[in-house]
Amino acid sequence: MSSSSPVPLEDPPVRFDDPAHHARTHPQRPERLRWLGPEAVPQPDLVAATAAAGDLLQALGVDLGSESLARTPERMATALAELMSPRPFELTTFPNDGGYDELIVARGIPVHSLCEHHMLPFVGTAHVGYLPGERILGLSKLARVVEHFARRPQVQERLTVQIAHWLDAQLGPAGVGVLIEAEHLCMTVRGVQATGTTTMTSSLLGALRDDPRSRSEFLALVHPTR
Ligand code: ZN
Repeated sequence: MSSSSPVPLEDPPVRFDDPAHHARTHPQRPERLRWLGPEAVPQPDLVAATAAAGDLLQALGVDLGSESLARTPERMATALAELMSPRPFELTTFPNDGGYDELIVARGIPVHSLCEHHMLPFVGTAHVGYLPGERILGLSKLARVVEHFARRPQVQERLTVQIAHWLDAQLGPAGVGVLIEAEHLCMTVRGVQATGTTTMTSSLLGALRDDPRSRSEFLALVHPTR
């Protein structure tokens, strides 16, 4: 097997706003373009975040005087920062020398992200597949791509689309499919308290959207486990 040199995840930059790329992947859905923002994730300022977390808790009436709560602002800031900071990784892709042309699917990838509307977690699973074209990538890397886009304030719809478009841009595949099923704590522990409710989102590109056989094969492979 021949391998290419590792490619940093963000390099070359994926021009999601490139009209040619967008026209190819979403001819009927130009409105999706606005979900695809810049990929740079700023470094958190933990000192400022700790001070702000303390202010927030006190404003909410939490007494930070006890030993148990004294370092809660620091733990809160660290935990939130972790949910917003993707681990760096190198993405290595390989030429599809064998001409493999059937679906490659990773099922049940864990998703942990933070709803940007309430700053409460949403957790679930992602199923990610592609129909290879020019390049393939290591299977474990599909989970790292999911994590990369999940570790930031997100909405599930955008997370789904970003993973699909990123794989489409990096691999030049014949098709990409991403299905995410997640429970949003902002929905299940407050408000309507719809415990157990999950939200499904999908993004299908290329043959997985346009070819009925490929589409149903992907959906059958990743059908929800419930
Ligand atoms: Zn929410």
